Amino acid sequence: MRRPSTLFLDPQKPLSICAASTCTDCPVQDRLQCHFGGKDLSRFFLIAFPPFILGGMGITRVNAWLLIPWLALILGYFGLVEIRVMCSHCPHYAEPGISTLKCWANYGSPKLWKYRPGPMSAGENIVFFAGWILIAGYPLAFLVIGMQWLLLALFALLTAELAVVMRLRLCNRCMNFACPFNRVEQSVRAAFFTRNPTVAGAWEGEKLS
Ligand code: SF4
Ligand code: SF4
Repeated sequence: MRRPSTLFLDPQKPLSICAASTCTDCPVQDRLQCHFGGKDLSRFFLIAFPPFILGGMGITRVNAWLLIPWLALILGYFGLVEIRVMCSHCPHYAEPGISTLKCWANYGSPKLWKYRPGPMSAGENIVFFAGWILIAGYPLAFLVIGMQWLLLALFALLTAELAVVMRLRLCNRCMNFACPFNRVEQSVRAAFFTRNPTVAGAWEGEKLS
């Protein structure tokens, strides 16, 4: 018998907040990503890393020491801040017994904050977008000031590709309805709510984006 991986949640087992006893035949299963595996993580890295590598190259060509603040910003944001303002609203975050995230995007980030189902506050939205602007804007400034036009074009192209692939392939299947980028259809959200009363309760009376 195949043993479930300890690197990811058992795909045969419903999420702990899910009221269903099995994922088999769940109508949500093919429309929403409740479980993640190595393939999901590798695919995400494949689209997410290239713009970061190009941005890092642009900074290094101006001054390699100035990579340090950018890397600190990336680690601080994706390891702590984004986890607080966005991921702490995600049903995946609610999973007990794991001290780090085991999903496709912020895999390995520590779960230091408490789970808060329901929408993000206005303040959380501001911090969420400010982080993204800073992380993308920092290397962009080096590419422009350093007149690294070829790198800038590639950086812009791969960042646009990342945004498009995420929008078309990931954000329309993500179970974190609180995220401002979430694009899951209302009917799928409703089907997920019927199986996840805690999440449904937290969204009661709230406008879904
Ligand atoms: S909604 Fe529940 S039962 Fe359906 S796939 Fe997700 S965890 Fe499994
Ligand atoms: S919002 Fe995305 S990155 Fe954050 S815990 Fe949920 S699935 Fe992972």
